[in-house]
Amino acid sequence: MAEINRAVKGTNDILPSDSHDWQFVEGKLLDTARLYGFKEIRVPVFEHTEVFLRSVGDTTDVVQKEMYTFEDKGGRSITLRPELTAGVIRSSIENGLVNGALPVKVCYVGGCYRYEKPQAGRLREFHQFGVECMGAAEPTADAEVIALARQLLGSVGIENISLEINSIGCPECRKAYHAALKEYFSSKTDELCTTCCERLERNPMRILDCKSPVCSKIAAEAPVVLDYLCDDCREHFEQVKAHLTAAGIEYTVNPHIVRGLDYYTRTVFEFVSGDIGAQSTVCGGGRYDGLVSQMGGPKVPSLGFAMGLERLMMVLKSQGTELPDAPTCDLYIAPLGEKAALKATKLCADLRSEGYAVETDICSRGLKAQMKFANKISAKYSLVLGDDEIENGKAKLKDMTEGTETEIKIDEIVEELGEAIRARIFKSIAEII
Ligand code: ATP
Ligand code: MG
Repeated sequence: MAEINRAVKGTNDILPSDSHDWQFVEGKLLDTARLYGFKEIRVPVFEHTEVFLRSVGDTTDVVQKEMYTFEDKGGRSITLRPELTAGVIRSSIENGLVNGALPVKVCYVGGCYRYEKPQAGRLREFHQFGVECMGAAEPTADAEVIALARQLLGSVGIENISLEINSIGCPECRKAYHAALKEYFSSKTDELCTTCCERLERNPMRILDCKSPVCSKIAAEAPVVLDYLCDDCREHFEQVKAHLTAAGIEYTVNPHIVRGLDYYTRTVFEFVSGDIGAQSTVCGGGRYDGLVSQMGGPKVPSLGFAMGLERLMMVLKSQGTELPDAPTCDLYIAPLGEKAALKATKLCADLRSEGYAVETDICSRGLKAQMKFANKISAKYSLVLGDDEIENGKAKLKDMTEGTETEIKIDEIVEELGEAIRARIFKSIAEII
């Protein structure tokens, strides 16, 4: 197939038949985040490359292998965002959010770009919903953010998802841990991949995140960071766990979680589903106490998470979760002839300005084809307008589900349709009760 007819590898179209599911999920997530005080922030899809080098970290897979980086016509190095935290922090510093009342709570939804090997649950363009809470150092903040992630997943109907947590300490305890890792991996350089051999010098923790089977196997036996936490980090982690328990949130401690981005400190966590195969992490996040100052802002301890919406959709699908149906057309008006077409145009304008979803013929079709179309779009009602109807000022409003017809005055269509739709809603409520 010619390239002009083919989407770029690793990208997905969200078609009209599916977009309502996405709107529903995104709406639920934004509404639920609002209950915890998070307001939406929208940042650009691309940033100066430096924004990601500084934050995500230049020894991570994301920076080393996955970024879409290019020079723009002005000679600037630009990168399509591989995640949103970096841009959100950049914006929060630039716009002074972190100099005002703390904590700053923001959430976002948007596309991310990573040059990865496309497979189920792994795309080159994917979408994340995430939150950032800036200016809260206490373990209660960690527990609140994790509780929000849990509630978000529940709000869209995700069941059976497990929470795994860990603490990867602060730069202080990291020193001793790095030394332990270096010692452990140094004797295994023959087996490690070349990238990991380089990582050994600069950032040995990154080896723990390597996807190569050989490196993963070696990493599984490596010293665990929990054994190297300083007293403050250990106490912080104990408090996070205590608050999670107080909130009734189940978790398991997984000492192998380190997360793929360099900015994390202390608490890290993942929500993992058993329903979607190998790419099983739906949501990942943690604390990043040094990031805001590292990016040129004040010392503002912060934390957040991001969930992959494609993976979230995959879980909903595999669970067989029923999402609400997309709203359908309230009325299809089928005009026959020019006079009727003019009347239909007027009625559509009146009804639409009152908030009804109305369609009429814009393809010059005959009655049969028009009614077929009305059925296809699942119109709730239809109204046929011919010369007789125009002359008498009366037409038949047909209930497309029941097949029943009611004669109405054409000029009172707004009131008549409103009444019919209200009656339909009452009937369906009565049926539920
Ligand atoms: P993974 O280990 O699966 O590569 P990650 O650690 O790179 O994930 P994060 O950077 O923490 O992922 O992003 C948060 C979430 O975004 C992930 O948990 C996942 O749900 C989603 N995600 C990340 N990369 C992709 C991708 N290439 N395609 C689809 N979803 C993704
Ligand atoms: Mg990744």
